[in-house]
Amino acid sequence: MVSFLDLKTLNTALADELNAAVAQVIASGWYIQGPHLQAFEQQFASYCGTAHCIGVANGLDALVLTLRAWKEMGKLKDGDEVIVPANTYIASILAVTENGLTPVLVEPSPSSFNLCLQATEQAITSRTRVILAVHLYGQLAEMQAVTALARAHGLLVLEDSAQAHGAQRAGVRAGAWGNASGFSFYPGKNLGALGDAGAITTQDGELAKVLRALRNYGSHTKYLNDYRGVNSRLDEIQAAMLSVKLRYLDEQTQRRRHVAARYLACIDNPRLHMPACEGGAEGALDHVWHLFVARTAERELFQQHMASRGVETLIHYPIPPHKQNAYSEWAGLSLPITERIHAQVVSLPISPVMTEAEVTQVIDACNAFGV
Ligand SMILES: *Cc1c(COP(=O)(O)O)cnc(C)c1O
Repeated sequence: MVSFLDLKTLNTALADELNAAVAQVIASGWYIQGPHLQAFEQQFASYCGTAHCIGVANGLDALVLTLRAWKEMGKLKDGDEVIVPANTYIASILAVTENGLTPVLVEPSPSSFNLCLQATEQAITSRTRVILAVHLYGQLAEMQAVTALARAHGLLVLEDSAQAHGAQRAGVRAGAWGNASGFSFYPGKNLGALGDAGAITTQDGELAKVLRALRNYGSHTKYLNDYRGVNSRLDEIQAAMLSVKLRYLDEQTQRRRHVAARYLACIDNPRLHMPACEGGAEGALDHVWHLFVARTAERELFQQHMASRGVETLIHYPIPPHKQNAYSEWAGLSLPITERIHAQVVSLPISPVMTEAEVTQVIDACNAFGV
């Protein structure tokens, strides 16, 4: 069976270093907000090319707390509008509503599935304050244009980089484009902890300071609380393991690109549409391929066919946020591009630990579909 993502193989390959990192933390006696978190924050800020990185408990909190910090700083207030792609993972939208802000859903580009610039521009009103750009599946949104549009309208840009560690364009990585960027280190992400973890990157020292307080009960100094903060800390054990895993990230991304390149070169079946890369072959090198998302009008048959050939496939995502019970007020919204994407997408296995034989097995199974 070719599994979708074999985390056990991926992490046991690094078991010696991970065990050593954990042993160091155990022996140190310091388990929260200590030297391992500080070291990882510095390493990840430097990796992304930002001045600051603030570790938090998960990727959702990274987004929630950034918007919250902007409220505390007087940059946002209740009811302000945040433009967000309609076809994102629901966490991006939960972060907006959690803060009493108003999500304005926009249709994506039908080719890249990323933020559509024209739709974004059309959605701007006098109440718009933020563009939340999601780098879906590991491909950067068109950030040069997004940041130019935001500048022209005086808007903040928040990147959702949960799927895009190391993705870049023009040599600038995810995390360094917006006023701030939220990352997730959920185990299945390209840089994954062995539990929950997340972070915010930013060039803004004032924002970083507010975030450091918000994640820790709103306190800069022990027992002095400047904000009604939360407990959302990235613990020492996860930070120490993330430092180990960050050293392998670029190598693992190269493996993902190799798998994607083989799929793009060798899967040739008129019933299957391959993902489009902005910027062609060069663009494919900037993409970090968190997911390899194909499209087919015969998804159920395709998944059964792949399973019968020993290949696990998944759907990212089966139901768009505006059709979820959590947002029943949007039940009447019509977003045809988003709905078509959700009805047709299917993700092929992609990971740094797939063998060449497994990649070939996926290609052969795809090419045999319907013939
Ligand atoms: C995974 C993910 C998140 C949330 O990350 P968690 O660490 O699971 O909270 C947010 N946005 C996107 C696009 C994601 O894929």
